[in-house]
Amino acid sequence: MITAILPAAGNGSRAGFAENKVLRELNGLPVLAHTLSAFAGVNGIGEILVVCREQDEQTIKTLLRPFPLARAVRGGATRFESVYNALKEAKGEIVLVHDGARPFVTGKIIADCIASVKTNGSGICAVPVTDTVAIAENGRMVAATERKNTYAVQTPQGFYREKLLAAYERARAEHTETSFTDDGGVYARYVEAPALFAGAPENRKLTFAEDFYPAARVGFGVDTHAFYAEDEGAPFINFVTLGGVRIPSDKILKAHSDGDVLVHALMDALLSAAGLRDIGYYFPDTDAAYAGADSMELLARVMELVKAEGFAPQNASISVLAETPRLSPYIEAIRRSLSQALGLSGSAVGIAAGTNEKLGYIGEGKGITVYATVLLRTLIEKE
Ligand code: MG
Repeated sequence: MITAILPAAGNGSRAGFAENKVLRELNGLPVLAHTLSAFAGVNGIGEILVVCREQDEQTIKTLLRPFPLARAVRGGATRFESVYNALKEAKGEIVLVHDGARPFVTGKIIADCIASVKTNGSGICAVPVTDTVAIAENGRMVAATERKNTYAVQTPQGFYREKLLAAYERARAEHTETSFTDDGGVYARYVEAPALFAGAPENRKLTFAEDFYPAARVGFGVDTHAFYAEDEGAPFINFVTLGGVRIPSDKILKAHSDGDVLVHALMDALLSAAGLRDIGYYFPDTDAAYAGADSMELLARVMELVKAEGFAPQNASISVLAETPRLSPYIEAIRRSLSQALGLSGSAVGIAAGTNEKLGYIGEGKGITVYATVLLRTLIEKE
């Protein structure tokens, strides 16, 4: 029988969270639930011990209900003490220790870890480092490791329980506990050099706030504005505004604001990608404050909202459907205006303009519709 030990007694301090990061949601489920699912599905695992802090114990016990093999074990003041407590409770002949905050571990990695223990007596999940690793003293690089012999150590780390427990007992007897960052270190000191097996870069540990957000988010927005009909008393202007650019036009768009239908679609795409409400929520057209509003100013405020959620645009792709006016001479000006507002290079803003082949309200020249798509990237510095 094999026991998985999942230390989950940390706090969220490095990520700036008040709560334990393994309880934070990731793609709709707590991080720890992802990690548990990976282990619960592997052949041979008969027991999963989740090491938790006293204050998280009730939450974690609730979270463990769908996993009959799993139970909570009280952690200690340090990772060393936490794993030691679990080792004493474990019943498996083989133990796999895995960080609760590495939810992307796969069934294959876990199975490879077990196979390594059976073949080599131990198995430390590791990936080759692609950067040179410097050894520094007083801020000066005094040596560099040879890249072909340098690995980043992950978890799971697998051992025969009695050997790892004996190593832990010796470390306690000799008061060397604080010199180890993981189980492989304890085992290397008191048993033998543990065997490495291949992990994967995706099997990363969630450490910082941005680790909890997907790298990119897509957003989509649409807006339509009607033209004034001939007998409707259009205001005495001779342009429409698209992307902050005034474009000569016989027909005038109806609007509460400046009628920048392109910027409205773009703002909805940005807000939607960031998981926020639509522009009607932030800038209601029942509010006199937005009468005649400059949509480029509203776009600047939307950019602030998106940034506050921890995102910035990566690119925007916009499609304008209009029978009139003719847009092609103004596309470059619109692109410049938008790339400046979005903090992007011109090549990251694509604008297509077409007619609707005389079909429907667009084809009849009754209005303009704009579709906008944006991609947001996660900002490294989330406030
Ligand atoms: Mg609108």
